[in-house]
Amino acid sequence: MAKNNKYFEIKDTLNKLTIEELDIKGKRVFIRVDYNVPIDENLVITDDSRIRSTLPTINYAIDEGAKVILASHLGRPKGKVDPKYSLAPVAKRLQRLLNKEVIFIDSCIGPKVENEVMKMKNGDVMLLENLRFHPEEEKNDEGFAKALASLCDYFVNDAFGAAHRAHASTAGITKYVTSAAGFLLKKEIEYLKGVVNNPVRPFVAILGGAKVSGKIGVLENLADKVDKVIVGGGMAYTFIKAKGYEVGDSMVETEMIDLARRIIDKLRENNVKFYLPVDSVISERIDQYSETKIVPNQELPKGWKGLDIGPASVKLFIEAISNAKTIIWNGPMGVFEIDAFSRGTMAIARAVADAYALTIVGGGDTDFAVHKAGVTDSISFISTGGGASLELLEGKDLPGISLLTDKQ
Ligand code: AMP
Repeated sequence: MAKNNKYFEIKDTLNKLTIEELDIKGKRVFIRVDYNVPIDENLVITDDSRIRSTLPTINYAIDEGAKVILASHLGRPKGKVDPKYSLAPVAKRLQRLLNKEVIFIDSCIGPKVENEVMKMKNGDVMLLENLRFHPEEEKNDEGFAKALASLCDYFVNDAFGAAHRAHASTAGITKYVTSAAGFLLKKEIEYLKGVVNNPVRPFVAILGGAKVSGKIGVLENLADKVDKVIVGGGMAYTFIKAKGYEVGDSMVETEMIDLARRIIDKLRENNVKFYLPVDSVISERIDQYSETKIVPNQELPKGWKGLDIGPASVKLFIEAISNAKTIIWNGPMGVFEIDAFSRGTMAIARAVADAYALTIVGGGDTDFAVHKAGVTDSISFISTGGGASLELLEGKDLPGISLLTDKQ
């Protein structure tokens, strides 16, 4: 069962049209989706959650009697047709999930697509071929954007994972046609912006992952919004170093040490409680079979790397989130891809899932960790966008959102 959110008010911060405000009956609706799903060498989709997350918008459009035209990118085909990156397997999976025929067209602009669109009946669903088979897509080319827009009466963006990109199908197209948010995009904004700006307190941010540099914008933006910040993972060692301690051979970004110091000061000035790991699981090498030890962080020896938070840190962090009412988590607590260094991340995943709080998880790795811990259904919201969710948490305007048509 998903967590019940009725105790938490989520403010609508989206001042843009949404699909529900359009009269789409009998209209051609071009929905930009993010079907950039993992596909193995046998062309089997290994995780279809991105496809599933667009079903509410597609089903709504079908029920309203729209002609539904879906378009997405997949991988990095670098502007050339490459069968490895065809969306054909996605069309098959979508057909199964919708229990309805999905018309797949092996191009995304041109006379063939136009003809097929003309033949569509109300409630039909069509998936176009990979937008990135055309170099014009990523260049946000006007002619390409116009060609896409000519296929439809309305544009709906539901591709949160691509909303931070100013491409023809996320940005350019909005110039030529009324543009609205789909349900997934709306939900992402409500959680990542609405909740973050109006949280029920105490509000705790848990940040991890490899590098401070990747999360610095988020830390700076959240520094005056949260009540507590917990930092784990590789990035913690730069902070520990900034406090004047040695960290053995753990990952440290030397050029970030000064900035880390300034962030510690800023958090203190804002009366934000700041938690760093107190112990580590260490090893000489990042592999499953090398010897591991647990040591207090004051005793990290030369030649050894901190690769996970230790059991004392897990206890400390769990205590720190025990009274939280809102938790946002982005980035693993260690090299969780290797079992020997995954315990800290798994323990924090379970603690976040068990917390009586509105819980938001963002970033591809953290999403994967939550799946691995088997607690997906107990998290209030898992963001579908890695880069996009970070940029939203940094307080940036994303073109895929800001260019949509304003509410009247
Ligand atoms: P990010 O993309 O910045 O969220 O980083 C995620 C990556 O950080 C994962 O692949 C982890 O293996 C890695 N990571 C987490 N903790 C550590 C650590 N202590 N040392 C090295 N890499 C780490």
